[in-house]
Amino acid sequence: MDMDKLVSLCKRRGFLFQSSEIYGGLNGFWDYGPLGVELKRNVREAWWQDMVRGHDELDAPPGAPEPFEMVGLDCTIIMHPQVWKCSGHYDLFHDFMVDCRESKKRYRHDQVHGRWVEAKEQRIFVATQAGGEEGEADAQQRALKFFNLRSKDAERLAWQGPLVSLTEIHDFSNVLGPDAKELGTLTPPREFNLMFKTYVGALSGEEGAAFLRPETAQGIFVNFKNVCDSTRVRVPFGIAQMGKSFRNEITPRNFTFRSREFEQMEIEFFCHPKASPEWYKFWRDRRYQWYLDLGLAGERLRLRDHDADELSHYSCGTADIEYAFPFLPPGEFGELEGIAHRGDFDLRSHMEGKLVRQGDELVVETGEDGKPHHRGSGKDLTYRDDLTNERFTPHVIEPSAGADRATLAFLCQAYTEDEAPDEKGKMQTRVVMKFHPRIAPIKAAVFPLVKKDGMPEVAKKIYLALKKRFNVFYDEKGAVGRRYRRQDEAGTPYCITVDGQTLEDRTVTVRDRDSLKQWRVSVDECPDEIARLIENPGAS
Ligand code: ATP
Repeated sequence: MDMDKLVSLCKRRGFLFQSSEIYGGLNGFWDYGPLGVELKRNVREAWWQDMVRGHDELDAPPGAPEPFEMVGLDCTIIMHPQVWKCSGHYDLFHDFMVDCRESKKRYRHDQVHGRWVEAKEQRIFVATQAGGEEGEADAQQRALKFFNLRSKDAERLAWQGPLVSLTEIHDFSNVLGPDAKELGTLTPPREFNLMFKTYVGALSGEEGAAFLRPETAQGIFVNFKNVCDSTRVRVPFGIAQMGKSFRNEITPRNFTFRSREFEQMEIEFFCHPKASPEWYKFWRDRRYQWYLDLGLAGERLRLRDHDADELSHYSCGTADIEYAFPFLPPGEFGELEGIAHRGDFDLRSHMEGKLVRQGDELVVETGEDGKPHHRGSGKDLTYRDDLTNERFTPHVIEPSAGADRATLAFLCQAYTEDEAPDEKGKMQTRVVMKFHPRIAPIKAAVFPLVKKDGMPEVAKKIYLALKKRFNVFYDEKGAVGRRYRRQDEAGTPYCITVDGQTLEDRTVTVRDRDSLKQWRVSVDECPDEIARLIENPGAS
């Protein structure tokens, strides 16, 4: 699928706009238009419904070791600065960046690649931001330019080895930066904390300094005790939260995939340490299945277990759910969600102080004076099982998803070009967004076939009846074939048409977006029929 086509459809039909576009936009920030906001809301609501509200604590879902409870939470974006010191974000949440003195551009060190090439008795490393074949083509173009060669002289370039990461290059003096014309213009890599800093209250000094949260998870940990004390949850149980997170990404790109302001949907699942490997496996599989159920196709979606050397310093196991986004080189996948076994790292950090690994142990990090580097809350965040009387610090399984990345994957998956007959029966190419009906922005559109003979009046009544239950759309303008096409592009799964026969027998035509099948339903049964189809889309 051509990403440019999707990006232009998103703008044209009001799924996504660049933030502050009339002022030239702001890199890494995106606005959801009228269709996009419905789509993203539906993604979030599907998650909340399936993970929290619809969860049945009396009956264990398939694969779960036992029944469990799920509750929700909504925390603030700005929290006590000590939260980020103990979580490790203050000291460790950074990327390395390199700047180009010539182009004034900034790059994430690990996102720049390049290849060694020799020509005219000079050996240089040509850097590029693109990967795979695109990266090789870009490196070739720029090498030709640098050596003042024409395309037909490409064989004079002696390439040495494949594309490698800039992180493998230690001396930048022979590096040609991704947007540079001269050698050696990249600065050595520097650390850059990704948290946005702000100031609370009238004081602008360091005492008022605070951060916009880079993840929603920490709000859950710091409220663990409040939730235990105010509800009757018993371990094992999960707390879910969704909301905005902020990361000052060095190179936001690939549409909304890497934004600076985005929304997360996170669960912290608290369990007994001994049972945690089983729960980890359960959540990994359950979350993977969720994306499959909402229509992400098997071969474009994968579950990848991290290698031991990829694991965070506290993690006993992590898996990513990844999607083959069309903007990535063939064979590459991008993370949609991470499921991490975090052990007792977070609860202990907020009790004792920032933890570091020492051999197999997690210990409080101390300064030269032997005192904790970042002191914890000192509150008891352990849990006492009132049946066994055992007291322990629960282990945590964290399925952490991004609402914007999931929405983007659903957009990519939905985009389809196929052939469908127009009004005259002639086959025409149509663009259709094949969203799962649960997440489709508009569930049904209602049309009078023509704007006369009382058809609009009947159609409006049906529209108003449906509107009480679903997001529906009314359209009486232009040829009915064109109205169908517009709904196909918006991803509306069902179109309901009032025609001559309606006036005789009070039935309407329902058209299925994907199969193009049409059938008749009585006017009064329309809302129930649409509800049935959304729940069970294959049943038409
Ligand atoms: P990446 O390696 O892609 O930066 P990450 O491993 O840092 O992601 P996590 O910290 O695990 O991501 O965040 C959990 C989820 O939040 C991700 O799987 C993703 O869906 C979402 N997310 C993280 N960063 C961004 C971002 N900059 N823009 C949009 N979504 C994001």
